[in-house]
Amino acid sequence: MGDLLSIDAALELVLGHVRPLDPEPVVTAGASGRVLALDARAAVDLPPFASSAMDGYAVRAADTPGELTVLGQSAAGRPSGDPLAPGSAAVISTGAVVPAGADAVVPIERTTLAGSTVSVEGVAPGAHVRPRGGDAHAGDVVAEAGARLGPPQIAALAAAGVAAVSCARRPRVVLLATGSELRAPGEPLRPGEIYESNTILLAAQAASAGATAGVLAPVEDDPAKTREALERALAADVVITSGGVSVGPHDLVRASLAALGVEEVFWRVAVRPGKPVAFSVRGRTLVFGLPGNPVSALVGFELFVRPALLALQGAREPGPAYLPARLAVAVQRNAGRDELLRARVRMDGEGAVVAPLGGQESHMIVRAASAAALVLVPHGSGELPAGTRVRYLPI
Ligand code: AMP
Ligand code: MG
Repeated sequence: MGDLLSIDAALELVLGHVRPLDPEPVVTAGASGRVLALDARAAVDLPPFASSAMDGYAVRAADTPGELTVLGQSAAGRPSGDPLAPGSAAVISTGAVVPAGADAVVPIERTTLAGSTVSVEGVAPGAHVRPRGGDAHAGDVVAEAGARLGPPQIAALAAAGVAAVSCARRPRVVLLATGSELRAPGEPLRPGEIYESNTILLAAQAASAGATAGVLAPVEDDPAKTREALERALAADVVITSGGVSVGPHDLVRASLAALGVEEVFWRVAVRPGKPVAFSVRGRTLVFGLPGNPVSALVGFELFVRPALLALQGAREPGPAYLPARLAVAVQRNAGRDELLRARVRMDGEGAVVAPLGGQESHMIVRAASAAALVLVPHGSGELPAGTRVRYLPI
Protein backbone atom coordinates (compact mmCIF):
# COMPACT_ATOMS: atom_id res chain seq x y z
CA MET A 1 0.00 0.00 0.00
CA GLY A 2 3.06 2.25 -0.30
CA ASP A 3 2.85 5.41 1.76
CA LEU A 4 -0.91 5.15 2.32
CA LEU A 5 -2.23 4.56 5.82
CA SER A 6 -4.58 1.66 6.42
CA ILE A 7 -8.15 2.46 7.46
CA ASP A 8 -7.47 1.06 10.93
CA ALA A 9 -4.25 3.02 11.42
CA ALA A 10 -5.99 6.22 10.32
CA LEU A 11 -8.92 5.60 12.64
CA GLU A 12 -6.55 5.00 15.52
CA LEU A 13 -4.90 8.35 14.87
CA VAL A 14 -8.29 10.06 14.79
CA LEU A 15 -9.50 8.47 18.03
CA GLY A 16 -6.15 9.19 19.66
CA HIS A 17 -6.83 12.92 19.20
CA VAL A 18 -10.31 12.86 20.71
CA ARG A 19 -10.80 14.49 24.13
CA PRO A 20 -14.32 13.73 25.36
CA LEU A 21 -16.59 16.74 25.77
CA ASP A 22 -17.91 17.89 29.15
CA PRO A 23 -21.20 16.45 30.40
CA GLU A 24 -24.43 18.37 30.90
CA PRO A 25 -27.81 17.44 32.37
CA VAL A 26 -30.32 16.24 29.77
CA VAL A 27 -34.01 15.53 30.42
CA THR A 28 -34.69 11.85 29.86
CA ALA A 29 -37.45 12.53 27.36
CA GLY A 30 -34.94 14.33 25.10
CA ALA A 31 -32.00 12.00 25.60
CA SER A 32 -32.50 9.58 22.69
CA GLY A 33 -29.31 9.54 20.62
CA ARG A 34 -27.22 10.94 23.47
CA VAL A 35 -24.34 9.14 25.21
CA LEU A 36 -24.44 8.69 28.99
CA ALA A 37 -21.54 10.27 30.87
CA LEU A 38 -22.35 8.50 34.15
CA ASP A 39 -24.12 5.25 34.98
CA ALA A 40 -27.86 5.92 35.31
CA ARG A 41 -29.42 4.10 38.27
CA ALA A 42 -33.05 3.31 39.08
CA ALA A 43 -34.59 5.77 41.53
CA VAL A 44 -37.26 3.28 42.64
CA ASP A 45 -37.95 -0.43 42.65
CA LEU A 46 -39.68 -1.47 39.44
CA PRO A 47 -42.47 -2.40 39.80
CA PRO A 48 -42.57 -0.17 42.90
CA PHE A 49 -45.03 -2.59 44.62
CA ALA A 50 -46.28 -6.15 44.10
CA SER A 51 -48.82 -5.75 41.32
CA SER A 52 -51.25 -7.87 39.40
CA ALA A 53 -50.32 -9.17 35.95
CA MET A 54 -53.98 -9.89 35.11
CA ASP A 55 -57.52 -8.67 35.58
CA GLY A 56 -59.14 -11.03 38.10
CA TYR A 57 -59.27 -11.65 41.84
CA ALA A 58 -56.54 -11.26 44.44
CA VAL A 59 -56.63 -14.32 46.69
CA ARG A 60 -54.71 -16.37 49.21
CA ALA A 61 -53.43 -19.30 47.13
CA ALA A 62 -54.13 -21.61 50.09
CA ASP A 63 -57.88 -20.75 49.77
CA THR A 64 -57.98 -22.02 46.17
CA PRO A 65 -59.74 -23.75 44.54
CA GLY A 66 -62.87 -22.67 46.35
CA GLU A 67 -65.81 -20.36 46.85
CA LEU A 68 -64.70 -16.97 48.16
CA THR A 69 -66.55 -13.91 49.37
CA VAL A 70 -65.83 -10.86 47.20
CA LEU A 71 -64.65 -8.07 49.48
CA GLY A 72 -63.00 -4.91 48.18
CA GLN A 73 -61.40 -3.82 44.99
CA SER A 74 -57.89 -2.78 43.89
CA ALA A 75 -57.68 -0.84 40.62
CA ALA A 76 -54.55 0.57 38.93
CA GLY A 77 -53.61 3.68 40.87
CA ARG A 78 -56.47 3.06 43.37
CA PRO A 79 -55.25 0.50 45.90
CA SER A 80 -57.70 -1.00 48.38
CA GLY A 81 -56.53 -0.03 51.84
CA ASP A 82 -57.67 -3.21 53.48
CA PRO A 83 -55.71 -6.42 53.89
CA LEU A 84 -57.37 -9.48 52.36
CA ALA A 85 -59.32 -11.48 54.95
CA PRO A 86 -59.04 -15.30 54.84
CA GLY A 87 -61.74 -16.86 52.65
CA SER A 88 -62.23 -13.69 50.62
CA ALA A 89 -61.19 -12.37 47.21
CA ALA A 90 -60.65 -8.78 46.05
CA VAL A 91 -61.44 -7.61 42.53
CA ILE A 92 -58.12 -6.56 40.98
CA SER A 93 -57.05 -5.02 37.68
CA THR A 94 -53.77 -5.32 35.78
CA GLY A 95 -51.11 -3.14 37.39
CA ALA A 96 -53.03 -2.70 40.64
CA VAL A 97 -51.50 -3.25 44.08
CA VAL A 98 -51.90 -6.81 45.36
CA PRO A 99 -53.48 -6.27 48.81
CA ALA A 100 -51.62 -7.32 51.94
CA GLY A 101 -52.52 -10.89 52.78
CA ALA A 102 -53.08 -11.88 49.15
CA ASP A 103 -50.33 -13.88 47.45
CA ALA A 104 -51.85 -14.75 44.06
CA VAL A 105 -54.25 -13.56 41.40
CA VAL A 106 -56.84 -15.75 39.70
CA PRO A 107 -57.48 -14.46 36.17
CA ILE A 108 -61.10 -13.51 35.57
CA GLU A 109 -61.39 -16.21 32.89
CA ARG A 110 -60.87 -18.85 35.59
CA THR A 111 -63.59 -17.61 37.89
CA THR A 112 -67.38 -17.63 38.08
CA LEU A 113 -69.18 -14.89 39.96
CA ALA A 114 -72.57 -15.53 41.57
CA GLY A 115 -73.84 -12.62 43.64
CA SER A 116 -71.05 -11.73 46.09
CA THR A 117 -69.42 -15.15 45.91
CA VAL A 118 -66.79 -16.04 43.38
CA SER A 119 -65.80 -19.57 42.53
CA VAL A 120 -62.08 -19.67 41.63
CA GLU A 121 -59.83 -22.32 40.16
CA GLY A 122 -56.70 -23.35 42.03
CA VAL A 123 -53.55 -21.18 41.73
CA ALA A 124 -50.07 -21.48 43.20
CA PRO A 125 -48.60 -18.82 45.50
CA GLY A 126 -47.20 -15.98 43.41
CA ALA A 127 -49.37 -16.77 40.38
CA HIS A 128 -49.94 -13.68 38.20
CA VAL A 129 -48.25 -11.41 40.73
CA ARG A 130 -45.42 -9.18 39.54
CA PRO A 131 -43.09 -8.94 42.54
CA ARG A 132 -41.85 -5.56 43.71
CA GLY A 133 -38.42 -4.92 42.12
CA GLY A 134 -38.86 -7.83 39.69
CA ASP A 135 -37.61 -5.69 36.80
CA ALA A 136 -35.06 -3.59 38.70
CA HIS A 137 -34.24 -2.52 42.24
CA ALA A 138 -33.64 1.06 43.30
CA GLY A 139 -29.93 1.72 42.72
CA ASP A 140 -29.54 -0.85 39.94
CA VAL A 141 -27.76 0.40 36.82
CA VAL A 142 -30.37 0.95 34.09
CA ALA A 143 -27.88 2.16 31.45
CA GLU A 144 -24.09 2.36 31.69
CA ALA A 145 -21.75 5.27 31.15
CA GLY A 146 -20.72 5.24 27.49
CA ALA A 147 -24.01 3.74 26.30
CA ARG A 148 -25.81 5.51 23.50
CA LEU A 149 -29.42 5.92 24.54
CA GLY A 150 -32.23 4.88 22.23
CA PRO A 151 -35.99 4.59 22.65
CA PRO A 152 -35.95 1.48 24.90
CA GLN A 153 -33.25 2.97 27.15
CA ILE A 154 -35.01 6.30 27.72
CA ALA A 155 -38.26 4.43 28.38
CA ALA A 156 -36.46 2.27 30.96
CA LEU A 157 -34.99 5.36 32.62
CA ALA A 158 -38.37 7.08 32.78
CA ALA A 159 -40.01 3.94 34.21
CA ALA A 160 -37.29 3.73 36.85
CA GLY A 161 -37.99 7.32 37.90
CA VAL A 162 -34.95 8.94 36.30
CA ALA A 163 -36.09 12.36 35.07
CA ALA A 164 -32.69 13.60 33.86
CA VAL A 165 -29.35 12.06 32.98
CA SER A 166 -25.80 13.28 32.50
CA CYS A 167 -24.64 13.22 28.88
CA ALA A 168 -21.66 14.70 27.05
CA ARG A 169 -22.77 17.85 25.31
CA ARG A 170 -23.45 17.52 21.61
CA PRO A 171 -20.36 18.10 19.44
CA ARG A 172 -20.62 21.32 17.44
CA VAL A 173 -19.80 20.61 13.83
CA VAL A 174 -19.23 23.21 11.13
CA LEU A 175 -19.45 22.16 7.49
CA LEU A 176 -17.69 23.91 4.65
CA ALA A 177 -17.98 22.92 1.00
CA THR A 178 -15.22 24.16 -1.28
CA GLY A 179 -15.47 24.48 -5.05
CA SER A 180 -16.14 27.32 -7.51
CA GLU A 181 -18.54 25.04 -9.38
CA LEU A 182 -21.04 24.64 -6.55
CA ARG A 183 -24.59 26.02 -6.63
CA ALA A 184 -27.37 25.57 -4.12
CA PRO A 185 -30.22 23.30 -5.25
CA GLY A 186 -33.01 25.48 -6.63
CA GLU A 187 -30.71 27.98 -8.35
CA PRO A 188 -30.19 27.74 -12.11
CA LEU A 189 -26.95 26.04 -13.14
CA ARG A 190 -24.54 28.03 -15.26
CA PRO A 191 -22.07 26.25 -17.56
CA GLY A 192 -19.71 24.03 -15.60
CA GLU A 193 -21.68 24.22 -12.37
CA ILE A 194 -23.17 21.41 -10.29
CA TYR A 195 -25.47 21.30 -7.31
CA GLU A 196 -23.88 21.27 -3.90
CA SER A 197 -24.94 18.15 -2.03
CA ASN A 198 -22.14 17.31 0.39
CA THR A 199 -23.10 19.69 3.18
CA ILE A 200 -26.64 18.30 2.99
CA LEU A 201 -25.27 14.77 3.24
CA LEU A 202 -22.83 15.58 6.01
CA ALA A 203 -25.29 17.63 8.08
CA ALA A 204 -27.69 14.70 8.08
CA GLN A 205 -24.91 12.26 8.96
CA ALA A 206 -23.61 14.54 11.74
CA ALA A 207 -27.11 14.89 13.23
CA SER A 208 -27.52 11.11 13.21
CA ALA A 209 -24.27 10.88 15.20
CA GLY A 210 -25.60 13.21 17.90
CA ALA A 211 -23.88 16.41 16.72
CA THR A 212 -25.31 19.81 15.89
CA ALA A 213 -24.20 20.96 12.46
CA GLY A 214 -23.82 24.51 11.17
CA VAL A 215 -23.23 25.04 7.47
CA LEU A 216 -21.11 27.85 6.05
CA ALA A 217 -21.71 29.20 2.55
CA PRO A 218 -19.71 27.22 -0.02
CA VAL A 219 -16.38 28.83 -0.74
CA GLU A 220 -14.79 29.35 -4.16
CA ASP A 221 -11.40 27.87 -4.92
CA ASP A 222 -9.59 31.03 -3.88
CA PRO A 223 -6.83 30.94 -1.28
CA ALA A 224 -7.83 34.04 0.70
CA LYS A 225 -11.53 33.14 0.74
CA THR A 226 -10.78 29.57 1.70
CA ARG A 227 -8.55 30.68 4.57
CA GLU A 228 -11.13 33.17 5.78
CA ALA A 229 -13.94 30.60 5.79
CA LEU A 230 -11.76 28.03 7.54
CA GLU A 231 -10.74 30.53 10.21
CA ARG A 232 -14.42 31.02 11.05
CA ALA A 233 -15.08 27.28 10.99
CA LEU A 234 -12.26 26.57 13.45
CA ALA A 235 -14.34 27.77 16.42
CA ALA A 236 -16.21 24.44 16.22
CA ASP A 237 -15.40 21.17 17.95
CA VAL A 238 -15.23 19.49 14.56
CA VAL A 239 -14.76 21.03 11.14
CA ILE A 240 -15.67 18.99 8.09
CA THR A 241 -14.66 20.34 4.71
CA SER A 242 -15.56 18.83 1.38
CA GLY A 243 -13.43 19.04 -1.73
CA GLY A 244 -10.07 20.62 -2.36
CA VAL A 245 -7.90 18.01 -0.63
CA SER A 246 -6.53 16.34 -3.75
CA VAL A 247 -3.42 17.26 -5.74
CA GLY A 248 -4.86 19.72 -8.29
CA PRO A 249 -3.96 23.42 -8.51
CA HIS A 250 -7.37 24.32 -7.02
CA ASP A 251 -7.05 22.03 -4.03
CA LEU A 252 -6.45 24.63 -1.38
CA VAL A 253 -7.76 23.19 1.85
CA ARG A 254 -4.59 21.60 3.23
CA ALA A 255 -2.36 24.60 2.53
CA SER A 256 -4.98 26.94 3.96
CA LEU A 257 -5.24 24.88 7.12
CA ALA A 258 -1.47 24.82 7.47
CA ALA A 259 -1.40 28.62 7.13
CA LEU A 260 -3.90 28.83 10.00
CA GLY A 261 -1.70 26.77 12.30
CA VAL A 262 -3.73 23.60 11.93
CA GLU A 263 -1.47 20.57 12.23
CA GLU A 264 -1.98 17.79 9.72
CA VAL A 265 -2.06 14.34 11.32
CA PHE A 266 -2.51 12.37 8.11
CA TRP A 267 -3.43 12.75 4.48
CA ARG A 268 -4.43 9.90 2.22
CA VAL A 269 -5.71 6.51 3.31
CA ALA A 270 -5.67 3.20 1.44
CA VAL A 271 -9.41 3.26 0.86
CA ARG A 272 -11.62 3.45 -2.20
CA PRO A 273 -13.46 5.72 -2.58
CA GLY A 274 -12.03 8.53 -0.49
CA LYS A 275 -8.25 8.16 -0.66
CA PRO A 276 -7.30 11.85 -0.31
CA VAL A 277 -8.98 12.27 3.09
CA ALA A 278 -7.04 14.59 5.40
CA PHE A 279 -7.19 14.80 9.19
CA SER A 280 -5.77 17.71 11.15
CA VAL A 281 -6.05 19.27 14.60
CA ARG A 282 -5.76 22.71 16.19
CA GLY A 283 -6.09 22.68 19.95
CA ARG A 284 -9.10 20.49 20.66
CA THR A 285 -10.67 21.14 17.25
CA LEU A 286 -10.65 18.18 14.87
CA VAL A 287 -10.61 18.96 11.15
CA PHE A 288 -11.65 16.40 8.57
CA GLY A 289 -10.88 17.25 4.94
CA LEU A 290 -13.14 14.96 2.97
CA PRO A 291 -12.82 14.62 -0.80
CA GLY A 292 -15.48 16.36 -2.87
CA ASN A 293 -16.90 13.38 -4.69
CA PRO A 294 -20.15 12.76 -2.86
CA VAL A 295 -19.67 9.04 -2.31
CA SER A 296 -16.13 9.69 -1.06
CA ALA A 297 -17.54 12.19 1.44
CA LEU A 298 -20.18 9.71 2.56
CA VAL A 299 -17.64 6.92 3.06
CA GLY A 300 -15.09 9.19 4.74
CA PHE A 301 -17.71 10.32 7.22
CA GLU A 302 -18.73 6.77 8.12
CA LEU A 303 -15.15 5.53 8.50
CA PHE A 304 -13.63 8.41 10.43
CA VAL A 305 -16.00 11.23 11.36
CA ARG A 306 -18.87 9.28 12.88
CA PRO A 307 -16.52 7.36 15.23
CA ALA A 308 -14.86 10.65 16.20
CA LEU A 309 -18.22 12.30 16.96
CA LEU A 310 -19.30 9.34 19.08
CA ALA A 311 -15.95 9.21 20.87
CA LEU A 312 -16.22 12.95 21.62
CA GLN A 313 -19.48 12.09 23.36
CA GLY A 314 -17.75 9.37 25.36
CA ALA A 315 -19.30 6.42 23.53
CA ARG A 316 -17.90 3.12 24.76
CA GLU A 317 -18.04 1.68 21.24
CA PRO A 318 -17.55 4.50 18.75
CA GLY A 319 -17.41 2.09 15.83
CA PRO A 320 -17.59 1.89 12.90
CA ALA A 321 -20.16 -0.78 13.73
CA TYR A 322 -19.65 -3.42 11.04
CA LEU A 323 -22.16 -6.24 10.64
CA PRO A 324 -21.49 -9.69 9.15
CA ALA A 325 -22.81 -10.72 5.74
CA ARG A 326 -22.08 -12.94 2.75
CA LEU A 327 -21.42 -11.75 -0.76
CA ALA A 328 -24.26 -12.42 -3.21
CA VAL A 329 -21.85 -12.36 -6.16
CA ALA A 330 -18.10 -12.52 -6.76
CA VAL A 331 -16.27 -9.19 -6.46
CA GLN A 332 -12.92 -8.14 -7.80
CA ARG A 333 -10.50 -6.91 -5.15
CA ASN A 334 -8.46 -3.73 -5.44
CA ALA A 335 -4.72 -4.44 -5.26
CA GLY A 336 -3.77 -1.57 -2.99
CA ARG A 337 -6.85 -0.20 -1.31
CA ASP A 338 -9.65 -1.54 0.84
CA GLU A 339 -12.89 -0.83 -0.94
CA LEU A 340 -16.34 0.10 0.37
CA LEU A 341 -18.91 -1.06 -2.15
CA ARG A 342 -22.43 0.30 -2.13
CA ALA A 343 -24.77 -2.65 -1.86
CA ARG A 344 -28.29 -3.85 -1.28
CA VAL A 345 -28.90 -6.10 1.71
CA ARG A 346 -31.32 -9.00 1.90
CA MET A 347 -31.80 -11.68 4.52
CA ASP A 348 -31.82 -15.41 3.94
CA GLY A 349 -31.95 -18.29 6.44
CA GLU A 350 -28.28 -17.79 7.39
CA GLY A 351 -28.23 -14.01 7.74
CA ALA A 352 -27.47 -10.97 5.63
CA VAL A 353 -26.51 -11.22 1.98
CA VAL A 354 -25.03 -8.16 0.28
CA ALA A 355 -25.30 -7.47 -3.44
CA PRO A 356 -23.13 -4.64 -4.79
CA LEU A 357 -24.97 -2.17 -7.03
CA GLY A 358 -24.02 -1.17 -10.52
CA GLY A 359 -22.37 2.25 -10.70
CA GLN A 360 -19.60 2.22 -8.10
CA GLU A 361 -17.85 5.42 -9.16
CA SER A 362 -17.33 7.99 -6.47
CA HIS A 363 -19.40 10.73 -8.15
CA MET A 364 -22.48 8.47 -8.41
CA ILE A 365 -24.49 9.59 -5.41
CA VAL A 366 -27.80 8.79 -7.09
CA ARG A 367 -26.71 5.17 -7.61
CA ALA A 368 -25.49 5.08 -4.01
CA ALA A 369 -28.91 6.27 -2.85
CA SER A 370 -30.41 2.83 -3.41
CA ALA A 371 -27.76 1.17 -1.25
CA ALA A 372 -28.36 0.07 2.33
CA ALA A 373 -24.77 -0.98 2.98
CA LEU A 374 -21.13 -0.14 2.51
CA VAL A 375 -19.45 -3.52 2.08
CA LEU A 376 -15.80 -3.66 3.11
CA VAL A 377 -13.77 -5.55 0.51
CA PRO A 378 -10.21 -5.90 1.81
CA HIS A 379 -7.45 -5.16 -0.72
CA GLY A 380 -5.70 -8.08 -2.36
CA SER A 381 -5.38 -9.90 -5.62
CA GLY A 382 -8.02 -11.74 -7.58
CA GLU A 383 -11.65 -11.89 -6.64
CA LEU A 384 -13.69 -12.84 -3.60
CA PRO A 385 -16.11 -15.60 -4.67
CA ALA A 386 -19.85 -15.41 -4.08
CA GLY A 387 -20.63 -16.53 -0.53
CA THR A 388 -17.45 -15.02 0.98
CA ARG A 389 -17.99 -13.72 4.52
CA VAL A 390 -17.57 -9.95 4.60
CA ARG A 391 -18.45 -7.05 6.89
CA TYR A 392 -20.62 -4.08 6.09
CA LEU A 393 -21.71 -0.76 7.50
CA PRO A 394 -25.43 -0.06 7.33
CA ILE A 395 -26.16 3.37 5.80
P1 AMP B 1 -12.57 17.85 -5.39
O1 AMP B 1 -12.39 16.92 -4.25
O2 AMP B 1 -12.69 19.28 -4.96
O3 AMP B 1 -11.55 17.64 -6.44
O4 AMP B 1 -13.96 17.47 -6.04
C1 AMP B 1 -14.17 16.19 -6.60
C2 AMP B 1 -15.47 16.13 -7.33
O5 AMP B 1 -16.52 16.32 -6.40
C3 AMP B 1 -15.66 17.19 -8.37
O6 AMP B 1 -16.35 16.61 -9.47
C4 AMP B 1 -16.51 18.23 -7.69
O7 AMP B 1 -17.26 18.99 -8.59
C5 AMP B 1 -17.39 17.38 -6.81
N1 AMP B 1 -17.80 18.10 -5.61
C6 AMP B 1 -16.98 18.84 -4.83
N2 AMP B 1 -17.65 19.37 -3.81
C7 AMP B 1 -18.93 18.97 -3.95
C8 AMP B 1 -20.11 19.20 -3.18
N3 AMP B 1 -20.08 19.96 -2.09
N4 AMP B 1 -21.26 18.64 -3.61
C9 AMP B 1 -21.27 17.87 -4.70
N5 AMP B 1 -20.20 17.60 -5.45
C10 AMP B 1 -19.03 18.16 -5.09
MG1 MG C 1 -12.83 21.08 -5.84
